Amino acid sequence: MEKYDAIIIGAGNGGLMSTLELAKYGKKVLLLEKSNKPGGLATSFIRGRFEFEASLFGLNNYGNEEHPGELYHLFKKLGLQEKVDFVTVKEAYHVYAMDENVDYTMPFGIMEYMEKMEEYVPGSQNALKKFFVLAEESKEALIYIEQNKNKLDASYLKRNFPDFLKVSTHTVDKVLEAIKMPKRAQEILTSCWVYFGSPTDKLSFVHFAASFFSMIAYGLKIPYKKSGELSLLLEEEIRKNGGEIKYNSMVKEILFKDRKIAGVHLTNGEIYETNHLICNISPTVVFGSLLPESMVPINSKKLANSRILGGKGFSIFLGLNQSPKDLGLENYSYIICESLDSHKEYLNKSSLKTCSSMAYVLNNAIPSCSAKGTTILEFNSPLMQDTFIKNVTEKNYFELKSRIAESIIDAFEKTTKISIKPYIEEIEIATPITYARYTGHPDGSIYGYKATGMDNLLPRMLSEEKETLLENLRFCGSFSSTLSGFGATYMSGHLAAKGTLKDIEKEEETWN
Ligand SMILES: Cc1cc2nc3c(=O)[nH]c(=O)nc-3n(C[C@H](O)[C@H](O)[C@H](O)COP(=O)(O)OP(=O)(O)OC[C@H]3O[C@@H](n4cnc5c(N)ncnc54)[C@H](O)[C@@H]3O)c2cc1C
Repeated sequence: MEKYDAIIIGAGNGGLMSTLELAKYGKKVLLLEKSNKPGGLATSFIRGRFEFEASLFGLNNYGNEEHPGELYHLFKKLGLQEKVDFVTVKEAYHVYAMDENVDYTMPFGIMEYMEKMEEYVPGSQNALKKFFVLAEESKEALIYIEQNKNKLDASYLKRNFPDFLKVSTHTVDKVLEAIKMPKRAQEILTSCWVYFGSPTDKLSFVHFAASFFSMIAYGLKIPYKKSGELSLLLEEEIRKNGGEIKYNSMVKEILFKDRKIAGVHLTNGEIYETNHLICNISPTVVFGSLLPESMVPINSKKLANSRILGGKGFSIFLGLNQSPKDLGLENYSYIICESLDSHKEYLNKSSLKTCSSMAYVLNNAIPSCSAKGTTILEFNSPLMQDTFIKNVTEKNYFELKSRIAESIIDAFEKTTKISIKPYIEEIEIATPITYARYTGHPDGSIYGYKATGMDNLLPRMLSEEKETLLENLRFCGSFSSTLSGFGATYMSGHLAAKGTLKDIEKEEETWN
């Protein structure tokens, strides 16, 4: 039996990043992954002559040399930034509302965005200006809080981020109403609420605004060779720095000695020793099935049970035998919704009759991502409640997934007036069942726990240390305090590694 300074369970973005950082600090680390490759959702797969992107359609908070986002700094610090080729996607989004038969295309760039909105909604410019000022302040304040959360200076916060403090406990709806943004502008602005998993009356303003600011100001990126490139790069760097990775290695039990973490037991019978664990999987699974009942802290159990699972994955991957130009697909991203009202849309997305989606034409960002004269078109349509899981049976599975996929494709064709079906060469459909099996996440939740009401980004950031209550056990990934998305999960890995380094230091001090 070998003993490691730390073991990381799960090689998703969070697990890869925390393993790399610990390895760079010279720690003896082992990353255990149940599947046969790195990345978790950050991967690609092949059907016929198409290589599909599994999850990354827009990387936020990366920016560029001139306007570096937090993630850019992290990649630079780790020497990763010059090793990946990113492409900035064409436009922020193109949204269609089926109930009103209207559509709006929104650009990147704060000035460009405000001008376009003014064109669509005359009289919206003042409120939008206020929104972007507040959004930038929220972004800066969140960075300050993240970096100083153990020594927050209230007077510094008051002096530097006075408006952030005023809006920090309010929802998107409350703040947009308060700054008197016209209703239609509010709806266009928030039409990408699905990425955050909560309708705008429940979504934290600062969470939405900070993230939206980065997206519009610095654009969204995708790696030239899809997200698998990022995962493979991290894997290579881990090995170069002496870290170990074992695939086909599923952890079934966390072991304890004298009520302290002692190691892990795999389904293949292997045992590895460590006193420090980072879990890139959900607290629901860790506390529900990997720990002996007697070791689960009652408050951790209560916390995991009180949380609501976020969107459950439903995706369609199409390989089309025509070019985007021949098909008439001009945009990169199409948001197709039944209504621009996020409350109504949330209910639509909770029903099995949903036909809304976010669709991406990969070739319109990376023309060479598939053979000449073909197109990769992918639909992401997360289901908002547990309707799929409750209604699916072994018997109706194929009929149910085909029916939902067909209504999503039909709605896309009808709203955009672009014919797709006759050109489908390859089709793959992933449901909450696919995602549950592939990631091990409960009910196929792809966005972690729902960030809603008082359980949103800011309170989670501030109470990160209280999330597990079990000594030397930390979480990273979409179920941890930074929430979901590529940027957030990479950052979560960084924070978990920092925390584990502190834990190891503390332990060494005790021994000395
Ligand atoms: C269709 C889709 C579109 C998306 N679009 C975007 C986007 O455009 N932009 C964006 O920023 N984000 C997007 N996301 C979200 C993003 O992909 C996720 O937030 C992120 O990849 C999650 O990373 P993670 O660190 O939580 O790990 P995960 O990817 O959840 O990986 C967890 C890993 O743990 C492993 N594991 C589980 N149990 C065990 C066990 N017992 N033992 C060993 N290993 C185990 C799993 O096999 C998996 O590899 C999208 C997601 C999906 C599904």
